[in-house]
Amino acid sequence: MYLGRLFVLSGPSGAGKGTICKELLKNSERMVLSISMTTRSPREGEVDGINYHFVTKEQFEENIKEDGFLEYAQVFENYYGTPKQLVIDTLKSGKDVLLEIDTQGAMQIKKAYPDAIFIFILPPSMKELRRRITNRGTEDASTMELRLREALTEIEYVEKYDYAVVNDQLIVAVDRVKTIVRAEHLKVAEGIKDIINRYKEDENAIPID
Ligand code: 5GP
Repeated sequence: MYLGRLFVLSGPSGAGKGTICKELLKNSERMVLSISMTTRSPREGEVDGINYHFVTKEQFEENIKEDGFLEYAQVFENYYGTPKQLVIDTLKSGKDVLLEIDTQGAMQIKKAYPDAIFIFILPPSMKELRRRITNRGTEDASTMELRLREALTEIEYVEKYDYAVVNDQLIVAVDRVKTIVRAEHLKVAEGIKDIINRYKEDENAIPID
């Protein structure tokens, strides 16, 4: 059976993962973004069912009990998790799935789905990361410090990923990620039986005289 590929994108808050994901999904019929469930409150402009499925702690814990998550983690005092069914159904349908999750979640995926492709998005520098989080204006001073400290801890995980992409310029970073996706689709492992059969069945390929 032909399966889609599972791409996992992580990186510190403010590295630009979200924007990169959005750009990646534009005009892409082959890739589907998994919408996470979270107990955190929506930020201004965020819509339930589009940015996240916003749920209560009780609802989230119920879903844990029902084995409804591919992975879940506690990030900044809130729960975040990847609903399992949609990911599995999408992969079975032959489409790729993109997960934008933190490093704890990514490490759980790595154990359960070692064939997934792990991409880490890095900010160009800590100075730039601070500037981006400040500009976003959604964090107060103490949350800001927490996010920056957390960013350093997250960055240490980069060595566990398959690819590292520095987001210095958005279009360049998006292009780098697209290159990774394309290269992964060209890997010999994907649909190899189909390829061999296609050549075997092409009788005209062997000259008779
Ligand atoms: P934010 O609150 O800024 O939207 O997200 C905070 C962090 O949670 C980010 O690093 C984001 O990638 C991560 N995150 C979002 N959804 C999930 C998820 O389903 N699982 C895990 N483990 N992390 C997630």
